[in-house]
Amino acid sequence: MKKLEEYVRSIPDFPEPGIIFRDVTSILQDADGLKLAVDSMQALLEDTDADVIVGTESRGFIFGAPIAYNLHKPLVLVRKKGKLPCETVEKSYDLEYGSATIEMHKDSIKPGQKVVIVDDLIATGGTIEAAAKLVEELGGTVVKVIFLMELEGLKGRERLKGYDVESVIKYQ
Ligand code: 5GP
Repeated sequence: MKKLEEYVRSIPDFPEPGIIFRDVTSILQDADGLKLAVDSMQALLEDTDADVIVGTESRGFIFGAPIAYNLHKPLVLVRKKGKLPCETVEKSYDLEYGSATIEMHKDSIKPGQKVVIVDDLIATGGTIEAAAKLVEELGGTVVKVIFLMELEGLKGRERLKGYDVESVIKYQ
């Protein structure tokens, strides 16, 4: 059986020169790859007691949804600004060039709920740091953050100091 790493296509110089992009579509478009990816991420939660799974737009939705379904937990979406129809809380964070704003519905997390955040990849950690702050603003506790892939050289884990962070595949 193929290892999960073997399903990841690495594309040099995308989206900019010097960046090696780790492509998830090559995992998703193979039934065994998709199953292995979801199962491997879910295995990181074996000892975690969670009330809610939070997925971040957009690739966090792909993995957050089957994990929430399998664990029979609710799925909450963190979306880019302007996409959610009801009352929201929002958080802006810096990107390499400019900034981005993400939102969550105000009623999506109840105070005291234990939350797991799911995304495909951690680079600098900025996206998930902002998402974790939103969860906390709503009164939730982030009990775990899981990724399929981690770009260790970008030190996102340090930015998420204080959170329980785990990833399946690690790249330098
Ligand atoms: P961060 O906020 O940790 O700097 O960036 C992480 C976000 O950027 C993730 O939501 C992820 O989807 C996206 N991202 C950055 N680099 C890559 C990459 O090489 N491959 C993929 N699939 N996503 C990336």
